[in-house]
Amino acid sequence: MKCVALISGGLDSILAIRLMQEQGIEVEALNFRTVFTCCQDQSAQASHELGVRLTVVGQEDDYLDLLKNPKFGYGKGANPCVDCRIYMFQKAKQFMEQVGAKFIISGEVVGQRPMSQKRNDLSTISHHSDLDDLLLRPLSAKLLPPTLPEREGWVDREKLGDFQGRSRKGLIELANRLGVKEIPTPSTGCSLTEPLFSKKVYDLNIHQPDSKRWDYDTLSVGRHFRLNDKVKVIVGKDAQDNEKIRYMKEMPEAPSTLFFEPIGFMGPNALLLGSQDTEHVPVVLGLMARYSRGLEEENPVVEMSYSGGTPKERQERSTGENAQTISYTLEESSAANELQTITEAPSVRA
Ligand code: SF4
Repeated sequence: MKCVALISGGLDSILAIRLMQEQGIEVEALNFRTVFTCCQDQSAQASHELGVRLTVVGQEDDYLDLLKNPKFGYGKGANPCVDCRIYMFQKAKQFMEQVGAKFIISGEVVGQRPMSQKRNDLSTISHHSDLDDLLLRPLSAKLLPPTLPEREGWVDREKLGDFQGRSRKGLIELANRLGVKEIPTPSTGCSLTEPLFSKKVYDLNIHQPDSKRWDYDTLSVGRHFRLNDKVKVIVGKDAQDNEKIRYMKEMPEAPSTLFFEPIGFMGPNALLLGSQDTEHVPVVLGLMARYSRGLEEENPVVEMSYSGGTPKERQERSTGENAQTISYTLEESSAANELQTITEAPSVRA
């Protein structure tokens, strides 16, 4: 008998898998990855220690549709957890069929998380992922209606858990009983639950509803300033950000942007998104000045270049007038100094 387990690498998913292994059930682990999650190392390490095969699946573009307009709403941040879990379990169902497993397990605990683990949420997730009673939550199974694996006797319900709520005490006792050596610290590993990051997500959802994955990828880089509904500036916070900005503007999926680079002084790289109109150049230079050092040198210079866009735009740029970089003298700007970052501005919530 084989099941598929959704694994994050956290304690709950580890225990759910251990409970299945204790009953002699083979487990295939599946880790679901979005551009907002960062816990792959944990799931790899946990799978290794559990002795289960791990497959990592990434989100597809339709994940962004649910992020922009989740049927079951957001949590405290921009986390559409119920829709996200449904999406994950739909992918897990396809995987289950591919590997010949009979059911799916997850480490969800009744009442542990405010948005997605209330009893009603668990049944909503089971139902809308088309799994219904093929989805077993071993840690809370005794509090939930018996699933098909329990009714058929594939799994002994008596050996499953009745955990509920946020306390980890009982889970840690179970971990000790099951011989789990490393007990991971609790973390969602998902930046959508972070309040400041969420502001940037909402800003994008509201002002640029056609945003693509590349736009969401940029949210973890630099300071973001919104100039108008279409136009935004990203300013690097440190050397790592500056390199990321330089890299991201060259990606094949990068839209048309203007890239700004300091020459001969300590300052950030900047990227103007949503417009290639040079009317925005003074404010970009002002933002760069705001975060620069060494401006006492005379005439600090910034080079601006066109980048990104469609293959045709890139081809035309290699020979046309936009092939050249343009040099500007850095100047402070009171308008730029007054601009708030998106994370400093009052929250706009979809
Ligand atoms: S915390 Fe993030 S990854 Fe986890 S269910 Fe919620 S939205 Fe999805």
